Amino acid sequence: MSKLPNIITSIFTIMSKMAAEYNAINLSQGFPNFPVDERLTNIVANLAKKDVHQYLPMAGYPSLLSKIAVLVHNSYGRILQPETEILVTAGATQGIFATIQALVDTEDEVIILEPSYDCYEAPVLLSNAKPVRIALNDDYTTNWETIEKACSSKTKMIIINNPHNPTGKILTITDFEALEKLLRKFPNITLLSDEVYEYITFEEKHISAHTRSALLKRCIVVSSFGKTFHITGWKVGYLVAPEHLMKEIKKVHQFLVFSVNSLSQVAISDYLDIVSVQEISSMYQEKRDYFRQLLKNSRFKLMTCEGTYFQVASYSAISNENDLDFCKRLIMEHGVAAIPISTFYADAKDLHLIRFCFAKDNATLEEAAKRLCSI
Ligand code: PMP
Ligand code: GLN
Repeated sequence: MSKLPNIITSIFTIMSKMAAEYNAINLSQGFPNFPVDERLTNIVANLAKKDVHQYLPMAGYPSLLSKIAVLVHNSYGRILQPETEILVTAGATQGIFATIQALVDTEDEVIILEPSYDCYEAPVLLSNAKPVRIALNDDYTTNWETIEKACSSKTKMIIINNPHNPTGKILTITDFEALEKLLRKFPNITLLSDEVYEYITFEEKHISAHTRSALLKRCIVVSSFGKTFHITGWKVGYLVAPEHLMKEIKKVHQFLVFSVNSLSQVAISDYLDIVSVQEISSMYQEKRDYFRQLLKNSRFKLMTCEGTYFQVASYSAISNENDLDFCKRLIMEHGVAAIPISTFYADAKDLHLIRFCFAKDNATLEEAAKRLCSI
């Protein structure tokens, strides 16, 4: 008997493993391959010799909580109470899990927008609740009318992911107005806003739920230092939630991890004194533009990318295979790994779309593009 009969090994694990086996360039799982800021690695090296190796307080290193409050204030103008409204988590994944476990109950419904990143469904199912998947429009805009039709007294939570993995779509003011109108009609729905790519948007600025006063009392915002500081392996993120929700989330958090690893928290806290998050978008915008330029003469058709470090591409001009088979062949025959987009849907669709991660040094992007242009 399995509690999660339909949950299989994550596609990110599968494709990265296969990339390693075939010595392919790994543009599948999302992680940067360029060096981490030397200032951060120096902080870690010096800290490791100090007294930072024992448990920190359950909700997070107090100095880090205060600095997150400053970061959120500087980025979005929102004033937070560090002790009651912020929780440091073992990556965004654990924050999302703790939130759903704490707030979603048996037979509740949770709205998940498709295509969807993979970490929302399992915690909903483990709560004996029902994921209700609603498709984004063909251009990946959000259909608020369809969402509203799906809402009822059973709906406990709506999950948004902005900027969106895998499509790179970002929400507009009009989206937030529609969302807020919908939430006014359903006062019992809580919003979970996964904003792990908040500092990676391009032509248009990221609009955070932090800036929408109507949402603050009923919204949990999820962030990830893994994405923001190019340290995905550290698995440190944080949640911001109003005190009455955070109290419940902390009850779960204390028995999932109790507290997040000390060295990382102290290092990030020190690093926040000297780093600016404002340069991240321009660095990734250059990478996005360079990668797109390199693929200009390929047979891949590149979709719009407004944010995140992912580029979705259609291979319809190259092959009729389904996207999983195509990705496997791409690794085995051409030495490049990507993610099949159908895996972001509950029912696999024949979309002929794959996702490349462009958070890579230029030499990697150039070699990958050379291989992709030869197909
Ligand atoms: N949400 C989204 C949309 C993501 O892409 C990721 C990372 N791939 C996460 C959550 C999880 O972030 P973390 O690594 O901090 O757990
Ligand atoms: N979020 C990363 C991606 O979308 C993967 C994280 C993971 O491997 N769990 O590629």
